[in-house]
Amino acid sequence: AKIEGRGRTRYFDQSMTRDLVRRREIEAELRAAIQKDELSIFFQPIVDLETGRIKTFEALVRWFHPQKGELRPDEFIPVAEETGVIVTLGNWITQQAAKAAAQWPEDVTVAVNLSPLQIKAPGAALGIFTALREAGLHPSRLELEVTESLFLEDSEATGSFITELSERGVRFALDDFGTGYSSLGYINKYPFSKIKVDRSFVSGKDVGKKSDAIIRAVAEMGAQLDMDIVAEGLEEIEQVTAVREAGCTLGQGYYFSRAVPDYLAAMLLTQERDG
Ligand code: C2E
Ligand code: CA
Ligand code: CA
Ligand code: CA
Repeated sequence: AKIEGRGRTRYFDQSMTRDLVRRREIEAELRAAIQKDELSIFFQPIVDLETGRIKTFEALVRWFHPQKGELRPDEFIPVAEETGVIVTLGNWITQQAAKAAAQWPEDVTVAVNLSPLQIKAPGAALGIFTALREAGLHPSRLELEVTESLFLEDSEATGSFITELSERGVRFALDDFGTGYSSLGYINKYPFSKIKVDRSFVSGKDVGKKSDAIIRAVAEMGAQLDMDIVAEGLEEIEQVTAVREAGCTLGQGYYFSRAVPDYLAAMLLTQERDG
């Protein structure tokens, strides 16, 4: 940074310090936030592209901070991971998501995002079974979304976690597919029922013939392996049409709905079924 001149160096240093201070604050406040009821779970529908019906709601955590306003998970989940708070937070999220899902029709499932750290923590599977039992939700109505980063060091803990839960009916989805170290090895080794193609293949500057061909290939593999292929980040009708045409079975994105509070999620289901 020194080569760029003094002014620029100072600018970087200041913004880095600000960043660090903010992270420190978030770390300290996160533990208390659950108790203070500042966190909530929102739900975004995942829609069957053939029928247009909601099959799943993905649980997405929100933090309504009294001073900082709404914080997005991208800002505090990494801090929660670094500090280990993610284990407590993750259990709380699963509990809330299972409770909400227990109110929905039985053919609707709930998807919960899991951090690698959460999965590697001792008693991870037990935490999830407990949440399910307390909510009275059948394991087959829970789907766990994991990213490829989980498999960077393919540990025994990861394997037994996935085996233990899937034997009891919990389903697994491979999230953000195509952004990381995508390997067919994981798909072959673990019982994923769903692959979520990252939204960078659907929208953004790099979308074109290539990304379309990739989506088609993934959709073809999904059909062969009896897995659902979800297209993420659908904002325009043209994108919905394109991914359905390419063979994706499910879609998610602002075109259908943003993430909404649990009462609105329940209302969407009622509307869909009554009218
Ligand atoms: P993700 O799992 O890939 O979740 C999808 C993100 O894309 C969500 O952002 C969602 O609001 C956003 N999204 C959905 N449709 C569209 C669209 O059409 N256009 C655009 N531009 N964005 C769309 P959100 O809620 O801010 O979450 C960001 C990330 O934070 C998630 O990415 C996930 O990795 C993480 N996260 C969220 N909730 C949790 C949680 O409860 N636990 C863990 N471990 N991570 C979470
Ligand atoms: Ca996800
Ligand atoms: Ca995703
Ligand atoms: Ca993500």
